[in-house]
Amino acid sequence: MDIFKLKFRPLGWTHIDLGRFQNPFNSWVDMFSYMPELLAFIFGICIGSFLNVCIYRLPVSKSIVHPRSMCFNCGTAICFYDNIPLISYVWLRGKCRHCGVPIPIRYPLVEIMGGLFSLCVYLKFGLTSQALIYFAFIATLLVITFIDIDHRIIPDIISLPGIAIFFLASLVLPTVTYRDSLLGIISGGGILYLIAFAYSLITKKEGMGGGDIKLLAMIGALIGWKGVLFTIFVSSAVGTISGILIMLMTRQDMKLKIPFGPFLAVGAIGYIFFGPQLVSFYFNMFA
Ligand SMILES: [Zn+2]
Repeated sequence: MDIFKLKFRPLGWTHIDLGRFQNPFNSWVDMFSYMPELLAFIFGICIGSFLNVCIYRLPVSKSIVHPRSMCFNCGTAICFYDNIPLISYVWLRGKCRHCGVPIPIRYPLVEIMGGLFSLCVYLKFGLTSQALIYFAFIATLLVITFIDIDHRIIPDIISLPGIAIFFLASLVLPTVTYRDSLLGIISGGGILYLIAFAYSLITKKEGMGGGDIKLLAMIGALIGWKGVLFTIFVSSAVGTISGILIMLMTRQDMKLKIPFGPFLAVGAIGYIFFGPQLVSFYFNMFA
């Protein structure tokens, strides 16, 4: 069997005919026909490069536009030619040009993730406002994920404006009504948030942590209440399995605290790409 004849079509994705890769040099037309995909990927890694800046600077309340990027070790400003996403990392072999300190592998990884998600969103939704909204949402979740891993916080400066922005954005989406979105915000944490807020008003003390609650409200604002239920289900399952694996591998006990934000992000991103198909698959099993 010729594996190149297989069509790549998981769960209703825009199909890519892998057969076209068989002889990519046969025809220039063929090569250029993948230009949109390539551009989507390049756009994504450039955004990923900006996300790195957000991940590094937002939790320490630094401006994300000024000053220019500099080496975190020696403080030397990074020239534009050393700041090209992905390429500069490979070119500099992962080290600062001036002091030689290793650049964390995280930087190119976030750029690649940005590129891949941009490509996936383009393949699933085409060049549409829907695709741009979902990509902005996924980019926001990436920033939150890595800040939560680094600092065990989800900054309000992202999640609170995110609730309003993604509610407005959901009005553009054909798959989510404004009622779905409002119910998403409420079910995703609005009620718990109000309780925490009332608690802090009455007792003048900080209530529950609430970062995850506000994040789930932001998620609900864009993907609606069904998305919230899906996200809670998937993130609990993935989080529990990962927690057990991490405990088995590190031989630490239950006191080990694992941030939950990244799992919420996994659930929400999973819903964007596979949610409706998985939900209908699930209900068809009982039909
Ligand atoms: Zn340096």
